[in-house]
Amino acid sequence: MIEMPEAATIARQMQETLVGKTFKGFARGPLTHKFLWLTKTADEYAASLAGKRVSDADNHGRSIFLSMDDEHLLWFGELGGRILYHPQGESPPPKYHLQWHFTDGSALTYSLQMWGFVGLLSRAELQAHPYALVGIPPLTEEFTLDRFDLLLEEYPEKTKKGVKGFLVTSKHMNGIGNGYLQDILFKAKIHPARKIPTLTDDERQQLYVAIQGTMAEAIKLGGRDDERDLFDQPGGYHRLMSNQTVGQPCPDCTTPIEKITYLGGACYLCPNCQVAP
Ligand SMILES: [Zn+2]
Repeated sequence: MIEMPEAATIARQMQETLVGKTFKGFARGPLTHKFLWLTKTADEYAASLAGKRVSDADNHGRSIFLSMDDEHLLWFGELGGRILYHPQGESPPPKYHLQWHFTDGSALTYSLQMWGFVGLLSRAELQAHPYALVGIPPLTEEFTLDRFDLLLEEYPEKTKKGVKGFLVTSKHMNGIGNGYLQDILFKAKIHPARKIPTLTDDERQQLYVAIQGTMAEAIKLGGRDDERDLFDQPGGYHRLMSNQTVGQPCPDCTTPIEKITYLGGACYLCPNCQVAP
């Protein structure tokens, strides 16, 4: 799934590549998927996009926004898969779900994995949307240690779900999914099932520092090595804790890295550095 470092990378590349282009058309590709959500029909997308000029691209945590100069925007919500740019003359991949054409012959395709949401709406509709701008993304001015502490206190399920639940739920902090979660918890030396009220002040600070450091490093490296950017290139961030490193020695203490299942997904951790509650 696309997390904040991938969203920031793709948004920056859209900024550099797509701004100034004019939409010519939109069409569904050869693939369909029941977990692909659009806010209008394909014909409505095509009709309302035609002639609109791309004016900006940015991201809010895991969401990417491609703005047009008439106050409308495409909102790529929390999604998995590939958003790829194709210059004029380059064929789209054989399989994809959505395609946008520009008047200069270039195109954009989206190939979905897991699930995806692509909204087309006005900026006012976006501001009013209950899920659009939720949560505070790491590395923003708002995301201070004090605010992080407050978000932890306000997490309604803090006595029921471990810290993993808080970190991957975008309505509190928007940007982290199951991918970066593993390294963040390892760097903070916290087990994913630890309940928030049991975290010491030092552990909260370590967690905050691990979030900021991991996100900044991953953005600098263009995202994870198992995700692709707008130009179909892998990112340069190699995860310490993943399905690729399970069984290998922990980089800090050499205990073999373990896989557990927790809150509906795999977690990779060092059982010695991240003591189970
Ligand atoms: Zn260890």
